[in-house]
Amino acid sequence: MKYVEEFRDRALAEKLSAAIRAEADPARSYNFMEFCGGHTHAIFRYGVQDLVPGNVHFVHGPGCPVCILPIRRLDDAIELAERHGVILCSYGDMLRVPGSKRRSLLSVKAQGADVRMVYSTLDALDIARKNPDRQVVFLGIGFETTTPPTALAIRQAADEGLTNFSVFCNHVLTPAAIRHILDAPDIDPEEAVHLDGFLGPSHVSTVIGSRPYEFLSETYRKPVVIAGFEPLDVLQSVLMLIRQVNEGRVEVENQYARVVTREGNTKAQDLVDEIFELRPAFEWRGLGMVARSALAIRPAYAPFDAEARFDLSEKTSREVKSCECPAILRGVKKPKDCKLFGNVCTPDNPMGSCMVSSEGSCAAYWTYRRAETLAEMAKDKAMAEQAA
Ligand code: SF4
Repeated sequence: MKYVEEFRDRALAEKLSAAIRAEADPARSYNFMEFCGGHTHAIFRYGVQDLVPGNVHFVHGPGCPVCILPIRRLDDAIELAERHGVILCSYGDMLRVPGSKRRSLLSVKAQGADVRMVYSTLDALDIARKNPDRQVVFLGIGFETTTPPTALAIRQAADEGLTNFSVFCNHVLTPAAIRHILDAPDIDPEEAVHLDGFLGPSHVSTVIGSRPYEFLSETYRKPVVIAGFEPLDVLQSVLMLIRQVNEGRVEVENQYARVVTREGNTKAQDLVDEIFELRPAFEWRGLGMVARSALAIRPAYAPFDAEARFDLSEKTSREVKSCECPAILRGVKKPKDCKLFGNVCTPDNPMGSCMVSSEGSCAAYWTYRRAETLAEMAKDKAMAEQAA
């Protein structure tokens, strides 16, 4: 198969691994954040961590769209389905994320709310066409990759004159969140995660291009390599980052040049710009309020904006006690630091969003590193008990 198997070639992976081991300076450590949950998944699925030396660390970032939706917005979605009686359409993973009091969209569906899983925004539009007597709301989540299909659905609904379709918009922006993470140590020293560079998102970059990351090298002096999702992509990107660090270079480089350009997909960007505008601030799970980090539907398309159409109540939403998802999403902690991992919290009984989505860190550790993680937790516990 073209463009997949070539990037999973074992011999080439071993060559890249050897080059990384030869060039990584043993006298220092390298901390690279992969912002995107897709990279986290690839790193664990293909054992990339085992192919790099111990002083090269992957810091998992907040780039899983399901994980970063704040619990209050999930509670709003539940309210739309329950109190307003709409047909609430959502992508599958989102249905299982626990909101306040551990209620999820799936659990309210079991109690009679009309919640439906869709594979695309066009499925939701179709449900609206077939149910003219019901209001249909699409729960829009995700980064710059999933925003154009939502914009397309809104424009199509407007063109068709659909009066029973709207979007509960939670689309967020990657560069603003990266900026927030880098500013965090100035705001709270406890949050300091030393980062030597970033593996830039690949799917997001196909839409926005590599240009929006240039502030990272220009202002924050952090190297960035836009990286594809296959194991060879990740290994080559790590090598490119190590070379930048070793040579004292700070640049935005594009390993994923077979798909990503500097300018991105301008047609998709124009469509998004027509339908959406910037929110002054938006809450991210784990990061709190992040300035200019999300999109709202423009007033011209207000009839398709669920927030304008429905009166949503003020909420005092609460994270599950002891769930470390917020700190994990900031890159401050790892799943082994959560005492619920693997005992109370499992994919069948998730306590937090990071265990639900396949791109979540806890789900990745559970699927690919369960035994090691549980052994590390037991060791840490024994050491803490000894020290007490
Ligand atoms: S193991 Fe579960 S409870 Fe703990 S951080 Fe992960 S998702 Fe949250």
